[in-house]
Amino acid sequence: MIPQIARLVAGLFVCAAGAALAEPMASVERTCELLGGRLQSVGVPRCLAAGLRADGIASVRGLPLLYRDFPARSQRGTPYRVLLMGGIHGDELSSVSIVFQWMEQIGRERFQPFHWRVMPCVNPDGLLADPPTRVNANGVDLNRNFPSRDWDREALKYWRTRTGSDPRRYPGTRALSEPESRALTETIRSFHPDVIVSVHAPYGVLDFDGPQKPPERFGYLHLALLGTYPGSLGNFAGLSLPVITLELPNAGLMPTPAQSERIWTDMLTWLERNLPRHAPPLYRRLDSEDWKSGG
Ligand SMILES: [Zn+2]
Repeated sequence: MIPQIARLVAGLFVCAAGAALAEPMASVERTCELLGGRLQSVGVPRCLAAGLRADGIASVRGLPLLYRDFPARSQRGTPYRVLLMGGIHGDELSSVSIVFQWMEQIGRERFQPFHWRVMPCVNPDGLLADPPTRVNANGVDLNRNFPSRDWDREALKYWRTRTGSDPRRYPGTRALSEPESRALTETIRSFHPDVIVSVHAPYGVLDFDGPQKPPERFGYLHLALLGTYPGSLGNFAGLSLPVITLELPNAGLMPTPAQSERIWTDMLTWLERNLPRHAPPLYRRLDSEDWKSGG
């Protein structure tokens, strides 16, 4: 075997063994090389320039779930906290690219009123698989792995009977079996968002879980309640917090700049007008024994 191929094979082995052996987490630079290489509309330099950080939370294959915080830039008291995430389904590429785009927009705003935590790619293993996969490297749909109240009773039963054991929708062996869903739950617990925005594709609609009256439309995305599923983020967090699910119309193609801008400005307007003064403290529920049992 020529040395280059030997190194490649060894690299693949290390990668595959990462879950069991807890490989050291990849650097931000290495992760940006991979993400930027996969996403033409982002590219490596733009990912590197985005100011993303890695804080010890990583995927099955040891890639960090990169994030960036943007403090509010206004003097209007305690700002609302917004958790914005893309790519929980790894094959929805546009949902990652658009979060990069919106992150740059937040950085340019002079008076933006929210404290943001932005996580553009929360399922990096799925995005970087060849071809990209909805599920993570363990074959689990992360958006069915959150500890919703009905998980133990319903998740596997629903998967078998309602999806015909669709491997793209496998909820895992138990709630929070996956490092990515554990990391997101921990982020919700520690960041205390007032609202969560999760971007998907390709249904071309706006979905909403939460105590408020839902928005009717953001740009060309109109409200269509897609229903709740055992273990979904909306089912889990939407009991206490608004969870906005943006479904872009195409997983591989970005909206035009005008369409993207309109979704964004409509959403910001809605958030400013509709966030509750005091969100119920979801994190207290996460501290209870029930939630810990998931892993
Ligand atoms: Zn999705």
